[in-house]
Amino acid sequence: MKLEKYSFGHGDRFGQQGRAQLSAVMQAQAGGIPIVPVWNKSNREHTIIGTMPMDTRSEADQAVEACAYTGRYYVDADHINLTNVAGFMEASDFFTIDVAETIGKPCDPGDMAVFVKSCSPYIGTLSIPGISQSIQVNPEKVKAAASQFLSAVKEAGAIYRTIAEQKGAGNFITEVSMDETEGPQSPTELFFILAALAQEGVPVQTIAPKFSGRFNKGVDYVGDAAQFEEEFRQDVAVIEYAKTLFDLPATLKLSVHSGSDKFSIYGAMNRALKEFNAGVHVKTAGTTWLEELIGLAEADGDGLVLAKTIYARAFAKSEALCAPYATVIDIDAGCLPSPEEVNTWTAQQYVEALRHDLKNPNYNLHLRQLLHVGYKIAADLGRAYLDGLKQHETIVARNVSGNILKRHIEPIFEGL
Ligand SMILES: [Zn+2]
Repeated sequence: MKLEKYSFGHGDRFGQQGRAQLSAVMQAQAGGIPIVPVWNKSNREHTIIGTMPMDTRSEADQAVEACAYTGRYYVDADHINLTNVAGFMEASDFFTIDVAETIGKPCDPGDMAVFVKSCSPYIGTLSIPGISQSIQVNPEKVKAAASQFLSAVKEAGAIYRTIAEQKGAGNFITEVSMDETEGPQSPTELFFILAALAQEGVPVQTIAPKFSGRFNKGVDYVGDAAQFEEEFRQDVAVIEYAKTLFDLPATLKLSVHSGSDKFSIYGAMNRALKEFNAGVHVKTAGTTWLEELIGLAEADGDGLVLAKTIYARAFAKSEALCAPYATVIDIDAGCLPSPEEVNTWTAQQYVEALRHDLKNPNYNLHLRQLLHVGYKIAADLGRAYLDGLKQHETIVARNVSGNILKRHIEPIFEGL
């Protein structure tokens, strides 16, 4: 199974927007953007919402049938590890092996020695096509990379083999993710991570490093966009070079996690992909749930009441809701409106505060992040929330599709 050059991941917390999401992808395809859709859902999301991996598979299959879609599509077991991968075996054909927690853990000294020795051809000056400055590599640098990442790569190998035993090698897409960790990985570190993955026999097709800057959930990139651009293009250069050098799958490409809403760096990504004629996978999830809320608020009446109820409850439980996402949100509590204030808002006021329109002075990124992590509140509302979505299906779907197509797919993939 080979992943297409351009792929777009759209998580769907409540499993109700599959058709709206696929319709955005199909519109993009019709407009000449050759992307394939991937439905991703992590164990964390399933646990919080109370869904099962097969629910995501059913959603994808049903959307494909309803839209008469005939292209390829995938169901991604997002951020899985050895403790939870078993539950995803039947449902998924795309596995995001998360080894962020193993980064920096001590590795076997014998493994370390073997790896360092295997890297002796790269000692000295390493020239990577597309990177103007050459990289100086000494044995200490290789050892430092190995002590940071070799145990994580070994763990990726163990998880990969567990999946391959059940599904059969070649019957699924392998992604390795290292994004949910403290520090970013440099392009040089990425080079050695790929060397180690190749030696470990992991046929990685997408890799998700942690980039510099903040990739907060549901809001724009925070950091130096010019620095990101240079780092991203160097990562792309490393991947293009390493996949031939290490005999990794020709389809290997970067995966950008928390990829939704990073409007200020989509141009940089597009330029780098163009320059290297490289592929990319972009992963989004919570942005769709926020469009559900926007649609409900826009519908006014009982839809707006539901959206206000969710805000009030999220506000009351903000600490518990934020805890699992602590590393990927930055909320200033002082900038959150009180539920009493929000309860006086019109539909337009609610929509303007929540919708990710940087030009609108009423947009509130703190409220947006709180609602982003507040999906557990909607899950607890159960039927009441799902009925609301059903009742306002058209207006919700329009927001979900428009957001994915116009604000994400087009700026990232246009002209590739
Ligand atoms: Zn991730």
